[in-house]
Amino acid sequence: MLRCPLCRSASNTRTSRYISDQTKEAYYQCTNIECSCTFKSVESLDKIISQPTLKAAAKPITVPVTKRRTLGRYGSGFQL
Ligand SMILES: [Zn+2]
Repeated sequence: MLRCPLCRSASNTRTSRYISDQTKEAYYQCTNIECSCTFKSVESLDKIISQPTLKAAAKPITVPVTKRRTLGRYGSGFQL
């Protein structure tokens, strides 16, 4: 929520929509009945502070299916 740029009162979000995955446009209306200013804002991603580790998701992609098959078929032959 943004404060009214004219009278600094609280404002209500009228509607909002995503312009892109990281940018949102919102329309506001001032709650001060004597002002009733309407305005819009553009909110966008600034920085990702932390994110989930991609280890679990990336592992199946880095290990080729053919390599796993080879290990299963010839695995016992490599043991002394
Ligand atoms: Zn206002």
